[in-house]
Amino acid sequence: MFNQKIKYLSYIIGKACVGIKDGACIDACPVDCIHIGEKQMYIDPVECIDCGACVPECPVQAIFEDEQEAINAGELDSVIANYKFFNQSYGTNN
Ligand code: SF4
Repeated sequence: MFNQKIKYLSYIIGKACVGIKDGACIDACPVDCIHIGEKQMYIDPVECIDCGACVPECPVQAIFEDEQEAINAGELDSVIANYKFFNQSYGTNN
Protein backbone atom coordinates (compact mmCIF):
# COMPACT_ATOMS: atom_id res chain seq x y z
CA MET A 1 0.00 0.00 0.00
CA PHE A 2 2.65 2.54 1.03
CA ASN A 3 5.07 1.86 -1.87
CA GLN A 4 2.64 2.54 -4.69
CA LYS A 5 3.54 5.77 -6.48
CA ILE A 6 1.26 8.65 -5.63
CA LYS A 7 0.67 11.14 -8.43
CA TYR A 8 -1.83 13.39 -6.70
CA LEU A 9 -3.58 13.69 -3.37
CA SER A 10 -7.34 13.92 -3.36
CA TYR A 11 -9.02 14.42 -0.03
CA ILE A 12 -6.23 15.60 2.20
CA ILE A 13 -6.26 16.46 5.89
CA GLY A 14 -4.71 19.78 6.82
CA LYS A 15 -3.14 21.33 9.88
CA ALA A 16 -6.43 21.99 11.71
CA CYS A 17 -6.26 18.29 12.60
CA VAL A 18 -2.87 18.60 14.29
CA GLY A 19 -3.25 17.98 17.99
CA ILE A 20 -7.00 17.36 17.61
CA LYS A 21 -7.30 13.97 15.88
CA ASP A 22 -11.02 13.84 16.59
CA GLY A 23 -11.54 10.63 14.62
CA ALA A 24 -15.04 11.31 13.30
CA CYS A 25 -13.60 11.03 9.80
CA ILE A 26 -12.46 7.48 10.51
CA ASP A 27 -15.95 6.44 11.53
CA ALA A 28 -17.38 8.01 8.36
CA CYS A 29 -14.94 6.48 5.88
CA PRO A 30 -16.46 3.45 4.10
CA VAL A 31 -13.10 2.02 3.03
CA ASP A 32 -11.07 2.61 6.22
CA CYS A 33 -8.36 4.55 4.43
CA ILE A 34 -7.73 7.18 7.12
CA HIS A 35 -4.61 6.50 9.16
CA ILE A 36 -3.76 7.85 12.60
CA GLY A 37 -0.39 9.59 12.61
CA GLU A 38 1.57 10.94 15.55
CA LYS A 39 0.25 14.48 15.09
CA GLN A 40 -2.73 14.17 12.77
CA MET A 41 -4.79 11.85 10.56
CA TYR A 42 -3.75 11.07 6.99
CA ILE A 43 -5.86 9.85 4.05
CA ASP A 44 -4.31 7.10 1.94
CA PRO A 45 -4.59 8.51 -1.60
CA VAL A 46 -4.43 5.07 -3.19
CA GLU A 47 -7.28 3.57 -1.19
CA CYS A 48 -9.51 6.67 -0.99
CA ILE A 49 -12.53 6.40 -3.28
CA ASP A 50 -13.17 10.16 -3.26
CA CYS A 51 -16.65 9.83 -1.78
CA GLY A 52 -16.38 12.94 0.40
CA ALA A 53 -18.15 11.34 3.38
CA CYS A 54 -15.41 12.43 5.77
CA VAL A 55 -15.58 16.15 4.96
CA PRO A 56 -18.77 17.18 6.81
CA GLU A 57 -17.88 14.99 9.79
CA CYS A 58 -14.68 16.83 10.69
CA PRO A 59 -15.42 19.18 13.62
CA VAL A 60 -12.53 21.49 12.68
CA GLN A 61 -13.04 21.52 8.88
CA ALA A 62 -9.57 20.12 8.32
CA ILE A 63 -10.29 18.14 5.15
CA PHE A 64 -9.60 19.56 1.68
CA GLU A 65 -10.97 18.03 -1.54
CA ASP A 66 -7.55 17.84 -3.15
CA GLU A 67 -3.98 19.02 -2.82
CA GLN A 68 -4.51 22.09 -4.99
CA GLU A 69 -7.30 23.29 -2.71
CA ALA A 70 -5.00 22.74 0.27
CA ILE A 71 -2.15 24.63 -1.41
CA ASN A 72 -4.51 27.49 -2.31
CA ALA A 73 -5.44 27.68 1.37
CA GLY A 74 -1.76 28.07 2.33
CA GLU A 75 -1.27 24.45 3.36
CA LEU A 76 1.65 23.37 1.20
CA ASP A 77 3.32 22.17 4.39
CA SER A 78 0.38 19.82 5.00
CA VAL A 79 0.60 18.50 1.43
CA ILE A 80 4.29 17.78 1.94
CA ALA A 81 3.56 16.12 5.30
CA ASN A 82 0.92 13.89 3.70
CA TYR A 83 3.28 12.72 0.95
CA LYS A 84 5.93 12.11 3.58
CA PHE A 85 3.58 10.00 5.72
CA PHE A 86 3.19 7.64 2.76
CA ASN A 87 6.94 7.60 2.11
CA GLN A 88 6.79 9.84 -0.95
CA SER A 89 8.09 13.28 -1.83
CA TYR A 90 5.87 16.08 -3.11
CA GLY A 91 6.69 17.10 -6.68
CA THR A 92 8.85 14.14 -7.64
CA ASN A 93 6.23 11.68 -8.92
CA ASN A 94 4.64 13.69 -11.72
FE1 SF4 B 1 -12.69 7.89 3.10
FE2 SF4 B 1 -14.41 8.93 1.32
FE3 SF4 B 1 -12.96 10.58 2.91
FE4 SF4 B 1 -11.74 9.17 0.96
S1 SF4 B 1 -13.26 10.83 0.71
S2 SF4 B 1 -11.03 9.43 3.08
S3 SF4 B 1 -12.95 7.28 0.98
S4 SF4 B 1 -14.55 9.10 3.58
